[in-house]
Formats: sequence, structure tokens, C-alpha cells
Amino acid sequence: MNLADTRSRLRDNLAKVEARIGAACGRAERSRDAVTLIAVTKSVEPDVAALLPELGVRDLGESRPQELWRKAAALPTDVNWHLIGHLQRNKVARTLPLVKLIHSVDSVRLAEVIDGEAAKLGRQAHVLLEVNLSRESAKHGFPADQVPIVNPDLPFPYKHVFVDGLMTMAAATDDPERCRPVFAELRSLRDQFAVRTPGLTDLMNELSMGMTGDFEVAIEEGATMVRIGSALFEGID
Ligand SMILES: *Cc1c(COP(=O)(O)O)cnc(C)c1O
Repeated sequence: MNLADTRSRLRDNLAKVEARIGAACGRAERSRDAVTLIAVTKSVEPDVAALLPELGVRDLGESRPQELWRKAAALPTDVNWHLIGHLQRNKVARTLPLVKLIHSVDSVRLAEVIDGEAAKLGRQAHVLLEVNLSRESAKHGFPADQVPIVNPDLPFPYKHVFVDGLMTMAAATDDPERCRPVFAELRSLRDQFAVRTPGLTDLMNELSMGMTGDFEVAIEEGATMVRIGSALFEGID
């Protein structure tokens, strides 16, 4: 496929995804602006990923740090990069300067390393805490009752780590309705914090949930960020 064909296919796919996001926002009586589309570029090469900002999508996600480094080096610097997959502690120093948001903080030890690196950079790192709600042991993330910040009994003394919110991955299924309770549970964790701490409007606002198979249900349940790959790159190789 040449790049011109790829661009037009991507434009069509994007229009379809946008229409579905818009319809889900409509059903939930939410503003389209309340949901950020994060295009997950892990399945495509940098030249294809670079078409997204041209089409107006500036938030891009990668699940592997090395792949994020590679694409960040190849794409324009005004892209907002999101690391959405597991981050090894020895890759924090190289990843942090490149990303707007790390969605996948899944341990206190990782938060501690991020805190140290952010301090060196003289800024705050923006992160989401990943919660394992599907109870699959293979998945990363804090168990629901052990999420720092949400659970006031758990210490989280990291001044350079700003927790924008929570992230989860639902188990893969053919029926997105089966993901609804998981997404509702993530929102309820966020809301528990909000009730306890009124007025802290930017801390813990974000809910990163929903992928190609389940993003409409996630939006109906309050997702503020959806991470979509396959639906955007369908028919492109
Ligand atoms: C790959 C990936 C996505 C996107 O999945 P699709 O089903 O291709 O939309 C979203 N989130 C994470 C963490 C991923 O690894």
C-alpha cells in the first residue's frame, strides 16, 4: 500500500471511529471534548504513525518503551506521547522526558523511580495508576483495594509524581457489555477519592479505559481517554 492510499484509508477509519465516539458521548450526554482519543500506533511503522498528526490526532500511544523512543525520534515534537504498557524501572530515565502521560504505573517501586527522575528534570511527572480489575493474574496493575491515593491508608510520598487518574484494561471478550462492570468499577474508585477530597479537581480526574473492542461502553461509563489501535489501522499494513 502506498502512503497516499494509506492516508485515505486512515482518514476513513478515523472518521468512523470519531462517529462512534461522538455517538457514545451523545448517549451518555457527555461533551465530545470530555474524551481524548489516543491513537495506539504499536502495529504501524513511524511513517504511518506520522499521518495521524496530519489528520488532527496529536495524542499517540505506545505500549513498549523502546518503540515509543523510536517513534518519538521519528515524528514531529508536538506529538503528545502516552506510554500505555508496562514500564520497567530501568527505562524510566529515557522515557520520562518524551511522554506527556504514563498510563501504566503499576507499583509503588515504579512510582518511586519516576519520582526520582522527575526531580532530576525539575518537573512533575504526570501518571495514571493502573488497576487490575479483571483479576487476571497475568495483567499488571494494583488490586482494587490497594490503589494508593484512592486508599488513604496507603502511603504515596512522591512529590514529583502527579496522579492524573486511573487506567484499566478489561479482559478481551466478544461482548463489550461484559466490560461495563469493570469500567464502572474504575469510575467508582475515582469517585471514592473525589468524595473524600472535594475541590481537588485536577488530581484523579482521568479515566483511561476502552480499546477497539469496548471503547463505546467505556465512554458511556465515563472514560476520559480511550486507547484505540486496531479500529484505526484496519486494512492498513
Ligand atoms: C494495544 C493496546 C491498546 C489498543 O488496542 P486495540 O484493540 O488495537 O484498539 C490499548 N491499550 C493498551 C494498553 C494496549 O496495549
